[in-house]
Amino acid sequence: MLLQLEMASDTTAPTTGKPPVIAQRIDTSPDVIQDQDSYGLPVFMLSEKPIMTQRRVYARKISSEEARKGYVMILKNKLAFFPPVGEAFPLVHDNVRSMARVESYRCTCRGPDLPHKHYFIRWNRLKTRDKIEIRQDPDKQGSYLINVHN
Ligand SMILES: [Zn+2]
Repeated sequence: MLLQLEMASDTTAPTTGKPPVIAQRIDTSPDVIQDQDSYGLPVFMLSEKPIMTQRRVYARKISSEEARKGYVMILKNKLAFFPPVGEAFPLVHDNVRSMARVESYRCTCRGPDLPHKHYFIRWNRLKTRDKIEIRQDPDKQGSYLINVHN
């Protein structure tokens, strides 16, 4: 329940008008999170659970703020899906490969008594309500693919 509340507030962007939809989408795919819970052991996980590959997706609907500022928010409970914060990794879009990384910033959007961090990947060319999907490249360890569709 805490997680749901956190996600809801993390994705609340008054200008999009549809934060509940985003939260719902995330809630329907908890399996994506749970498989990712062993930190720093992607090799081990890939060899042990090859069939899971296709379920390894980080999906998100882009808010107006993300579109405007050029980033994709990464929810805290999905961090383990990505390489460690600050570590560069290849992200391929339409066969074009660029380097990306998960970054963080401190935030007090829940009040001064609840300091926390938000996580994001810088990514331009996004429009409000674009749906993005980031998956691990099954053919290339450590590389990720991003799909964007409206
Ligand atoms: Zn915050």
